Amino acid sequence: MKKTTGMDRAATRNWRPATRAVRGGTWRSEHGETSEALFLSSGFTYDNAASVAARFSGDEEGMTYSRLQNPTVAMLEERIALMEGAEACRTQASGMAAMTAALLCQLSAGDHVVAARAAFGSCRWLVDHLCPRFGIEATVIDAAVNEEWDRAIRPNTKVFFFETPANPTLDVVDLQYVCDLARAHGIVTVVDNAFASPVLQRPLEFGADVVAYSATKLMDGQGRVLAGAVCGSQDFIDNVLLPFQRNTGPNLSPFSAWVVHKGLETLDLRARAQSVSSAELGRFIEPRVARMLHPGLPSHPRNELATRQMPNGTGPIFAFEVPGGREQAFALLDALGLIDISNNIGDTRSLLCHPASTTHASMSEEAREAMGVTEGLLRINVGLEDIDDLKEDIDRALAKAGL
Ligand SMILES: *Cc1c(COP(=O)(O)O)cnc(C)c1O
Repeated sequence: MKKTTGMDRAATRNWRPATRAVRGGTWRSEHGETSEALFLSSGFTYDNAASVAARFSGDEEGMTYSRLQNPTVAMLEERIALMEGAEACRTQASGMAAMTAALLCQLSAGDHVVAARAAFGSCRWLVDHLCPRFGIEATVIDAAVNEEWDRAIRPNTKVFFFETPANPTLDVVDLQYVCDLARAHGIVTVVDNAFASPVLQRPLEFGADVVAYSATKLMDGQGRVLAGAVCGSQDFIDNVLLPFQRNTGPNLSPFSAWVVHKGLETLDLRARAQSVSSAELGRFIEPRVARMLHPGLPSHPRNELATRQMPNGTGPIFAFEVPGGREQAFALLDALGLIDISNNIGDTRSLLCHPASTTHASMSEEAREAMGVTEGLLRINVGLEDIDDLKEDIDRALAKAGL
């Protein structure tokens, strides 16, 4: 009997999450390789002219050109779809390519978007600057207040766009409430799930329509490649996203797809372990700082909701505020001996950054303040180092910064 491949949905849908992460989307060639093959090929060849015609017409399955399909990319897309519990997935060259595709594939002039105020800087740029240029109106709200979603709806509202937990203030959105509201009004929810990954949170289970990723973050998780993904129903992917993606070409390279595919094999372990360390480091830092923003700690205003939506852990990222503003934040960063100063997240290495001068520097000071990105705010990604080494490093740096 031939073994089940990871491309056979009838079999793979019975696999539990950790098995999907290791074996989902495995599509072996005639060589029977253990690790998935890397098909670095832009084009494909055909045995005869009738065959190429049949492939282009869709009568025959098979590859034609890597902007349309590629075996390595298809393996990654199948694995992500399985892990997410989605009917289908397509990948893009970066998280921002994924967000842009997820929005622009379905929005037209005259439509209205409601988006969360607390968001990754470039996601806010899409909403604040790109959408209006094409006649798409946007309203930005405090997404952590349920009623603000109700109040923002207009007759032409087409999309709700938000992340949870949000970058960099770790605001938590009530997925069930917002997705139910959207359903009732025929609005499409697009959730940026980069901070969580499918191991920690699966928005489709709460009724979300589209889940978009920066796969650069936890999915690769080792600081190697940029990647993005969009998951949704087969109908959405085939009839809404693909016409946009196939003709505009924000595709992920097979090489990067292969790297992310390898990252997914350890995602379940990494996401859980980094969540545990993140909670422990958060508890260690909390008494020494002015404000702690950690969805996994009781001091977070939506701690109960966060742990219900993310039962396997609230992720590796949290933020905290030092009372002495930028000067004290920089003093703390400069005193680190082990943890790196870096704006990346989801990495196996612990990284600390000052959002107001980096990831959110291009926003106006007013918009930053409204978002809670103060001059004393620091955001940390907790990696896989020994927690005691991380505590010692932070302890030393806090003391040097006078905390
Ligand atoms: C990093 C990030 C993005 C953008 O992803 P890239 O891969 O850097 O393009 C989008 N949303 C969130 C929440 C992110 O953290």
